[in-house]
Amino acid sequence: MARDTRTYAWPAGKRCAVVFSADVDAESPYLWANRGQPIGTMGQLELRRFGPRVGLHRLLELLDRFEVKGSFYVPGIVAETYTSILPELVERGHEVGLHGYHHEAVHQISEAENAAILDRCLEVFRRQVGHATYGYRSPAWELTPEVHRLLRARGLAYDSSLMGYDHPYSIEGMAEIPVQWLTDDAIYFRFFGSGNDAWHPANPRAVLESWIEEFEGIRQFGGLFMITVHPWISGRAQRIRMLQALLDHIAQYDDVWWTTAAEVAAYHVSSENAAVFEEPMRLVDTNF
Ligand SMILES: [Zn+2]
Repeated sequence: MARDTRTYAWPAGKRCAVVFSADVDAESPYLWANRGQPIGTMGQLELRRFGPRVGLHRLLELLDRFEVKGSFYVPGIVAETYTSILPELVERGHEVGLHGYHHEAVHQISEAENAAILDRCLEVFRRQVGHATYGYRSPAWELTPEVHRLLRARGLAYDSSLMGYDHPYSIEGMAEIPVQWLTDDAIYFRFFGSGNDAWHPANPRAVLESWIEEFEGIRQFGGLFMITVHPWISGRAQRIRMLQALLDHIAQYDDVWWTTAAEVAAYHVSSENAAVFEEPMRLVDTNF
């Protein structure tokens, strides 16, 4: 137990890290949810297309203003529908990573299907932006040991879907760059207006206060502050203003390592942290 209280060792002079990440889902989760059925309505398609049309560009301008590079996870179908997204992100110096093809729930499909999807996504990325060691973020932030093994077998740089620490760690030798529901925009703002939503979208000022409090805590404990936004959600005007206020707050510190998930993963595996915070693949025995 003692080692869990050890603080993560960041590069000299840095107390914590910040990664601004975006899951560029567009309409892909809706297509997956409706697979095999005709889609005869426009509402949710158009709502989600606001992301690639408007939201993504507002987010990129915001990051430019702070001279920050982000990590963008793009489903294969989104890259193939909006063919300028991956090349533009790479051209502007941002990281791009895998995020399923149709935003599949990896635990609902077979290992063979997951393997084929990963290979298909890698093929799209290599065709559009060239060979690189890409990172991976699971759609819906779920993973299985089989998918984890498929990622390792393909030499992916890291996974960013789990929450076992609030700083980087390793599972079976592969870097895990953790996410957090608390700093995911979807849980506060996703709203479809279908009558199924249980509550209205949150006031961004309240979310800003919560996120600043989390950032200050992460800085105190020496962790990773991972923000996850979706262009169709956080590209809306009041949320861009909220993010600007958040980044203004973070920018006042010079002891914050503000970088991409790929950079964090590369640092992690080359540092002593990789051995200190290594976890085995361990599910539980439910035969009791
Ligand atoms: Zn997603």
